[in-house]
Amino acid sequence: MAAMVILGAGHAAGQAAASLRQGGYEGEIVIIGDEPHIPYQRPPLSKAYLSGEVELDRVHLRPEKFYQDKNITLRLNVRASAIDAAAKTVSTDAGETIGYEKLLIATGGRPRKLGIPGSDLAGIHYLRTISDVDGIRNEMTADSRMVIVGGGYIGLEVASVAVKAGLEVHILEMEERILQRVTTPEMSAYYQDLHESRGVHIHTGTGVTGFSGDGQVQAVQCGDQEFPADIVIVGIGIIPNVEVAEAAGIQCDNGIVVDEGCRTSAADVFAAGDCTNHPNPLLNRRLRLESVPNAMEQARVAAANMCGADKTYASIPWFWSDQYELKLQMVGFSSDGDTQVLRGSKADNQFAVFYLKDGAVVAADAVNSPKEFMICKQLIGKPVDEKRLADPETDLKELLT
Ligand code: FAD
Ligand code: NAP
Repeated sequence: MAAMVILGAGHAAGQAAASLRQGGYEGEIVIIGDEPHIPYQRPPLSKAYLSGEVELDRVHLRPEKFYQDKNITLRLNVRASAIDAAAKTVSTDAGETIGYEKLLIATGGRPRKLGIPGSDLAGIHYLRTISDVDGIRNEMTADSRMVIVGGGYIGLEVASVAVKAGLEVHILEMEERILQRVTTPEMSAYYQDLHESRGVHIHTGTGVTGFSGDGQVQAVQCGDQEFPADIVIVGIGIIPNVEVAEAAGIQCDNGIVVDEGCRTSAADVFAAGDCTNHPNPLLNRRLRLESVPNAMEQARVAAANMCGADKTYASIPWFWSDQYELKLQMVGFSSDGDTQVLRGSKADNQFAVFYLKDGAVVAADAVNSPKEFMICKQLIGKPVDEKRLADPETDLKELLT
């Protein structure tokens, strides 16, 4: 009998398999993943797993026994090389051909690579997988010099771990400010001050032109400037893994194009997670998101629809990032707002910034304010009184009514 087949053994894949069983699907489920690991969470990779505070078993999405108990077949270390959407089969680089009843593509993304001179020197790392972090941890010795290329999430999270571990850390960001892609100039400035106060050196407007060293990286070049380095981490974004889908004739455009039910352009083929370009009916536009909440929720919707339901994925996107003792939680897109309202104190590292458009909340960034964040999520789309919102004496729940 043909099975439910899932490509990729990451966040979305692990969740989809669990959801298929929770939804009562009793047939065969096969997950094909090209990494050697059972499905795991990537967030700890740049945080507590990098710092050594958590062990591998706590990084796994579920224990291995879960897959045995639920009779979910894991084909690990195996790459899906082709999909035949007419014959409803997947071929693998292990030489198998596996038939599917329904297929879920959850192939995520891979790090964007730098193609500049010296890029293949030892000591230059990307960070996406457990194996990447194991390699980085071995080289992260106190007093060594780390240069981080890219002031995005990976760059900043790694910097906060590395500087705490006693390394000298320099971040090189091509743009004029860190976190440019995801937040406002004010939040970028707040995070730059935070990192600099902890000893991280941030160089904005600094594009990397090459690496030098004799087998092992020794310096990073940025035009005339040179930064000595014992270890380099490159975090300059990801490229969605769409090639197998694209080669099968499935529509792709900055990700695998899906509808609100995670259906691709091919019959019985679904997609979820970082690899998708999906419509958001609440924001009236298409998005390609790179976040765990998106991967999990799309996986749940895809699993239900693979079993014949007609569920819609409609959520306001949200994100989080842990740096030092600060938890940043973001909901919606700050770029959608026309007004900012600050509640709390930036000096105390405990505040929320609400973004309003025509008087209604469209997004919020909350630092060390988890309760406020929970309410922020419910305030999205609601008109609010700016003065009451800013006043810490106002019970935010009152604004919900
Ligand atoms: P992935 O988890 O990337 O899984 C896809 C899997 O498919 C991979 O294992 C890949 O190797 C495999 N694959 C690809 N092609 C094939 C093929 N042809 N055959 C077989 N297997 C294949 N998000 C947050 O919301 N909060 C965070 O704090 C956060 N921190 C992060 C920290 C790091 C270091 C990284 C790298 C990401 C972080 N993210 C975070 C993003 C989050 O991890 C991703 O959004 C999420 O993993 C996406 O899940 P996915 O299943 O779509 O893809
Ligand atoms: P990212 O958040 O997209 O940030 C990449 C940064 O590098 C951007 O600021 C980008 O600038 C910059 N950049 C691009 N090309 C560059 C170059 N040649 N030289 C210098 N800087 C350059 O990606 P990431 O930090 O690499 O993270 C990779 C993936 O992991 C993403 O999917 C991310 O969402 C995920 N992740 C998420 C979290 C979290 O949610 N907390 C934590 C870690 C990782 P531009 O904006 O101009 O492109």
